[in-house]
Parts: sequence; structure tokens; C-alpha cells
Amino acid sequence: MLRSGDPDAGGIFPGLETVAPTPRTTGMANYYATHRVWSVHMPALAVHYDDVFLEHEAPAGAFALPADDLLAVPEAHPDSPDRIRNIRHVIEHQLDDVTTWEAVTPASREQLTRIHDEDYLRELEAACREATSGVGGERLTPTTGVSERTFEAARHAAGASIQTAERAMDAGIDEVAYAPVRPSGHHAQPGQADGFCYVNNVAVAADHVRATGAADRVAIVDWDVHHGNGTQACFADRDDVLVVSLHNDFGVWGPQHPQTGALEERGEGDGTGYSVNVPLPPGTGDAGYADAFERVVEPIVAAFDPDLLLVSAGQDPGHLDPMARNLVTKDGFEDLGRRVRGLASDHADGHLGIVQEGGYQQSHLPYATLGALEGALGLESDVDEPFFVLGEYEPPARAWVDEAVEAHAGHWPIEVTDEG
Ligand SMILES: [Zn+2]
Repeated sequence: MLRSGDPDAGGIFPGLETVAPTPRTTGMANYYATHRVWSVHMPALAVHYDDVFLEHEAPAGAFALPADDLLAVPEAHPDSPDRIRNIRHVIEHQLDDVTTWEAVTPASREQLTRIHDEDYLRELEAACREATSGVGGERLTPTTGVSERTFEAARHAAGASIQTAERAMDAGIDEVAYAPVRPSGHHAQPGQADGFCYVNNVAVAADHVRATGAADRVAIVDWDVHHGNGTQACFADRDDVLVVSLHNDFGVWGPQHPQTGALEERGEGDGTGYSVNVPLPPGTGDAGYADAFERVVEPIVAAFDPDLLLVSAGQDPGHLDPMARNLVTKDGFEDLGRRVRGLASDHADGHLGIVQEGGYQQSHLPYATLGALEGALGLESDVDEPFFVLGEYEPPARAWVDEAVEAHAGHWPIEVTDEG
């Protein structure tokens, strides 16, 4: 089990903090005495979870691959409920002593229609009503279909995300709120399902705290390996919600997905500059993500100065993920968690909420998620990355981050440097 305060606190005991060495003079010599004090603060994790997240069924039959007819066994759809079962299990086993489990209230029509077109929601609900359990219903896109419980699961996922945002606004950095939801949300647009997403959970949550006056400005940092195109579409013309997305350049994957997450997509009208895309290459790795955070994400979020930091936490940059090849390890996710903790602590009054997005390698996902949560909570873990990791290599991401710095430097206080 874990046990420590912030990594720089230096202890191996819970909440133990090291105060800077104090010089003392004796008659013989100066020496430094290190004082250790017991902190009264223990981190806390508020998890907003409901079993209905397991009841959405992805489309039955083959997951579309270009050469499906060459395979004897069709590929199962990657969005399995076992993803969330494994996340729940790892929290119960590793974070039990800091975790409270909160009941979920589904999002109301009013909360959903702040983001989504009423006609779209009505059609989605009707499609789910007509679906048959175990067989699935209509495919809304080639890879995104509904079952009879999809709408209920999606309403609860949005509700859990709203509660996560509200809880984060009530808490300081010693409590982190988390919504391990399914289905995910960040591809869902106001009137369009996309990429296994139906309702944009993080967008509904961000707009809820805006509409209720709980927060004036919300920053969303999306480290899912796919572009948070739905979230970008929801807030493209607004300057009160900053959307930062780090992702591979997957391009357009169908008419329902016109956004690509290119550097040039920077928002429009009042929102110009507030859509920040950071395309990264396959192989980016832990070091590449750290570089992107240091040179782009952290200075931009700091300059935006949000009241709340929400993380669209898709762990599909994981090094075993079947959907991408970005090679982030459990340690890398722990570092990302520490970085968003630092950002929330320094620039968002400690208000940090985490909403689950993708992550599809069922065995690595819980480790990656544990790492992200441990980092966000300021805990050190005794659980190591469980899988073989490629040895040291030079991530190819640096040149891509250079381009992102150059693209966003006109609007934000980030610097293009020669050696950068
Ligand atoms: Zn993803």
C-alpha cells in the first residue's frame, strides 16, 4: 500500500513531511538537523461510481478492422465493461483507506441540454429504447452503437462528472474527485455521437459549474491519446472554458469526426486561443509527455488561471494500449497525475476533478489509472509498472512540442527557444 506525502516531502510514512534543514551551531561544528513533522492532512479520493456504467453494451459483432475477412476470430469491441471493473478493483485494493464511494444522480435534461441538442438526446434515448439487450441496437457510427441501457449509463456518467466537478469546487487539494465513468464522453459533440461517446461528460460538468456560478473559468486538460474533438466543439467559441488536448494525429475518421486536433484549430470568435491542441507522435513516452506539459500545458493553464481544473483522463497513451502506441508507463501516468495536482494546487485553488475517458488494454489500464490517481493524490506507490517496458530511448516528441510552442506562443506566454 502507499504511503507518503508529496514526493518531495521525502518520507516513507503517511503524511510525513520534511521541513527544510535548519542550520544549528554547536560549540564544535555546524550541522543540519532534519525535522520531520506529522502532517494533519491525509489525501482523500471521492469516487463517483454506479454499476450502471457496466450495463452499456458496445455493438455486437466484429469491431471494424480493414481486413476483418482475413481473421478467423473477429476482434471484440475494445470498450468492454471489464475496463471499469478493473479500475474499481484497483481502487478498492490500493486506495481503500483514502477513498469514499459516492452514489450517482443521473444528469437532468436541463443539465444535458446545456451542451447537447434536445433532438439529438431524444433520438439517442429512442434508439436505446428500441435496442435489444445482448444483441445491441443501432450503430450511430461504424464503431459506436447503443444498447437498451446506453442512455441510462450515459446520463449517470454525466451526473457523476457533474458531482465530481461540484465536489472538486468544494474541496481543496487534499481531496481529489474522480468519476470512473463509462461510456466515455470527449468525442461526443452537441448533436453527434462519436468514438464510443454519446454524452460529453466533462463538457456537461464544466458547463454546469459555469451555469450555476460555482466557477467563472474552467480548464480541461485531456491526455487521452485521441483528440478531445467533442469537448473542443462544445467550447470552441468560448473564452471561459480552456480546452487543452494532447493526442496522436489520427486525422478525420468519418463524417461525424471533422475535427482533427491540428495546431491550427485554435477556437473561433471570443474563443480564439482557448482551444489548445498538442499533437504528439507515436512513441512519445513518459519523457515526451513531461516535455509537452512543461513547455505548453503548464504555462498555458497557469496563464488562464482557472477556478477548476478538470482532467479528461484517458489512459490509452499507455504503452500496451491496442488503440495507439504512445508508450506511457505507470510511472508516466503518476507523473501526469502529479503535474495536474501541481497545476490545480498552484492555479486553481486546489480544485481538481478527474473524469475517465478511454484506455483499452484491460490489464494495464488499472495500473495506469492507479498511477494517475496516486500522482493526483500526492501519494507514492509500492506498485510498480507490471509489464516489460522498452529500454531507454530518445522520444521523438521534442520537435512536435517545438511546433506546438510556436503555434500557441502568439496567444500564450510560452517561449520559442533555439535549443527548444
Ligand atoms: Zn481515447
